[in-house]
Amino acid sequence: MSRFFSEKFASLTPYTPGEQPRERKFIKLNTNESPFQPSAKAIAAAAEAAENLQLYSDPTCKRLTEKVAERYEISPDEVILVNGSDEVLNFAFMAFCDKRHPAVFPDITYGFYEVFAELHNIPYEKIPLREDFSVGVEDYIGIHKTIFIANPNAPTGMTISPADVERILQSNPDNVVVIDEAYVDFGGESCVPLTRKYDNLLVTQTFSKSRSLAGARLGFGIGSKALIADLHTIRYSTNPYNVNSMTLAAGYGVLCDEAYTQKNCQTVCENRAFAMAELKKLDFEMTDSKANFIFAKHPVLDGGELYAKLKERGILVRHFEKPRIREYNRITVGTREQMQALVDAVRQILEENR
Ligand code: PMP
Repeated sequence: MSRFFSEKFASLTPYTPGEQPRERKFIKLNTNESPFQPSAKAIAAAAEAAENLQLYSDPTCKRLTEKVAERYEISPDEVILVNGSDEVLNFAFMAFCDKRHPAVFPDITYGFYEVFAELHNIPYEKIPLREDFSVGVEDYIGIHKTIFIANPNAPTGMTISPADVERILQSNPDNVVVIDEAYVDFGGESCVPLTRKYDNLLVTQTFSKSRSLAGARLGFGIGSKALIADLHTIRYSTNPYNVNSMTLAAGYGVLCDEAYTQKNCQTVCENRAFAMAELKKLDFEMTDSKANFIFAKHPVLDGGELYAKLKERGILVRHFEKPRIREYNRITVGTREQMQALVDAVRQILEENR
């Protein structure tokens, strides 16, 4: 820390992203990226947009906003596009949380929520997930705080139903409820339709997972016109050109190729079922994941040790050295070949451990 660093941030522990090694080629199952290349339409559109990079990007993101609105059957003023859904989550903490509206989220969830709360000096509460790692919906009924729930949750992949989200919304009418749907396209049920009915609901999604654009950094928020206007106020007060022109073009391209996205999601779901069945044969316990990752622990093999041994064999998974989940590893679902390589490596490791 330099002697110039504001004391506001002196005790901040930043978010730790998953490893992105460049020095060695790993089978990368650690950051929930898509194993598939972006749609050819997205690649071509981004290349074409590169020819005009001397110009600023469109701060209203008009064309893509309209396309997203059309896809989700809402109006363009109910959408905000952002530089990865992390950005809209950050904006939501800024816009909808303060001392009168503290934040609340599960103890085991996406680690960035706590970082954003700390960053903006927002009081917050973490509610323990139930013993089986499910979100205890009753805990959020009438809590009167700004609620952040990842659905499917990370790193468990477990879901709550839109009916339960609706109960949370109804019982907290004066607080915003943020439903983070980064992983919804792999078998979850979206709460976007509820945004028509509840003015306190913000749904966030990303192009990073099901749409293979993690490197482009593109996400969006959907909510009532007034909520979205608040988020634009924050956006225009931080970075009006938050989404670059190549990314805007790539996002448009990928939305013109929904069949490709659907096919990839289906393949990921099949590969998830395959890998889970194989890991089960090796005695792993897993949560009921509806995301593009598996959350698994072995009765004998330590979570940290499995992570390290897989890494030695060129397979990267994500291990969180955190209470309640240190026995687990989060394994991104990749191609069938990658899943087979994972299962083979795990089998070898278990045999060596005998
Ligand atoms: N929400 C959850 C639950 C996530 O796991 C992630 C990805 N790490 C994000 C949001 C952010 O994704 P992105 O910024 O790439 O859209």
